[in-house]
Amino acid sequence: MAWKRMALQGWGRVTRAETLASRPERQREVAPLLLAPEAAPGLIAYGGGRSYGDVALNSGGATLLTQRLNRLLDFVPDTGLLVCEAGVTFQDILRTFLPRGYAAPVSPGTAFVTIGGAIANDVHGKNHDRHGSFGDHLAWIELVLPDGRLVRASREEEAELFAATIGGLGLTGLILRAAFHLQKAPSTHFVVHERRLPDLQSFMAAFAEVRRQATYSVGWIDGVARGGQLGRGILQTAEYATGEVPRARPARERRMPVDLPALALNRHSVRLFNEAYFRRVPAAGRERILPVEQFLYPLDAVLDWNRLYGKRGFYQLQCVLPDAAAERGLPALMERVAEAGAASFLAVLKTLGERGRGYLSFPLPGFTLALDLPARPETPALMAQLEAMILDHGGRVYLAKDACLSPEGFRRMYPELPHLQAVLQRVDPAGRMRSDMARRLQIHGAA
Ligand SMILES: Cc1cc2nc3c(=O)[nH]c(=O)nc-3n(C[C@H](O)[C@H](O)[C@H](O)COP(=O)(O)OP(=O)(O)OC[C@H]3O[C@@H](n4cnc5c(N)ncnc54)[C@H](O)[C@@H]3O)c2cc1C
Repeated sequence: MAWKRMALQGWGRVTRAETLASRPERQREVAPLLLAPEAAPGLIAYGGGRSYGDVALNSGGATLLTQRLNRLLDFVPDTGLLVCEAGVTFQDILRTFLPRGYAAPVSPGTAFVTIGGAIANDVHGKNHDRHGSFGDHLAWIELVLPDGRLVRASREEEAELFAATIGGLGLTGLILRAAFHLQKAPSTHFVVHERRLPDLQSFMAAFAEVRRQATYSVGWIDGVARGGQLGRGILQTAEYATGEVPRARPARERRMPVDLPALALNRHSVRLFNEAYFRRVPAAGRERILPVEQFLYPLDAVLDWNRLYGKRGFYQLQCVLPDAAAERGLPALMERVAEAGAASFLAVLKTLGERGRGYLSFPLPGFTLALDLPARPETPALMAQLEAMILDHGGRVYLAKDACLSPEGFRRMYPELPHLQAVLQRVDPAGRMRSDMARRLQIHGAA
């Protein structure tokens, strides 16, 4: 239960925080830590550290590291209801349950995310059109409020606190336990279809067709192609395999041995990489049978791939544009990024279905685009231009990835903020839960 000075950073390595951190091992240690004098300047939870920006950082304040609160507590095979501590990761779930025929209903693109982090950002996966976001599958959560009280929240009980905590950026208290339904997984493998799309228009048309049929879909876009090739890439769709599957080979994890020097990642090297990536799928397309984790978490094969962008790090911009605006808005955004020479490796394009249950849930029906932008002195100015363009198209930026959004832009993108603020007034009038993002976006007031 000791507190220790520590430097933490966001996954993009642009945002850092000096903080006083403690790593509880048991649930009963959490309330006393929340009330400890060390936490008085404000406290936030830090889960798997997979958010790119400052949502889990608390400079000059305190941080609770939740990864040791990672016990699976109960499982009912008939209903698939799992109860677990909030530090359990998607990797824990996959390794324990996939061999038994169950999987998380919704999963982000890395298995190192914790359940607490998945709730606090209401994460989505490659099946959002079909299965919504993580909050849609929660039966209940139990959290320690900033005053040390333990409460259960669900759609029926403490419904406003429930909606404020889903996508609530960790500001309503510390999630201790959660109950949610795993889904039946008929195989440990997916049948994955891949096809090349020559430009953004054909990509979006292909998505329009597959989003209602395929359970999983994701697009990998060449972030540097321009002109007639703007938005070209590979569309993958997947379903659980039904027949024989190849015998699983033990997964190999690689590490990025060093930070790549900033110069190594220039427009030329990215172009070569992207060209090779595009051509690896034959023009006629292909079908492969892949282990579930290889399809869901392709980037996890290289453990600390965020070092690819060198010591200066990178920003990730993920936005969603409503369906009606996406056809005009997405090319405009991609052209602006390409014009600025902000070499992005692969960008990710997905479709989203219904809105989330949380007041600050990110999803809305439309197209979501995620781009990595290497950190350079001019990048924040570019991000500000992109923010304005996203607003003009009625879209919003995903806070799990954000380090740049303005408080005013945030308010226009998330009009339900006053509902969250009302809950925070009730459960945390002294504002004990704090983060660098909450201060930057003035979540508790002002702007
Ligand atoms: C390679 C990669 C791919 C990704 N793909 C996707 C994707 O496909 N879809 C998607 O939605 N996101 C995606 N993300 C983003 C990621 O899912 C979110 O940022 C997620 O919230 C990270 O969870 P974490 O456990 O790492 O928590 P952190 O990043 O450490 O924290 C995130 C938030 O959760 C809060 N929190 C954590 N634990 C608790 C707790 N016990 N109680 C209260 N609050 C808590 C923190 O305070 C913070 O506000 C991806 C990230 C990476 C690096």
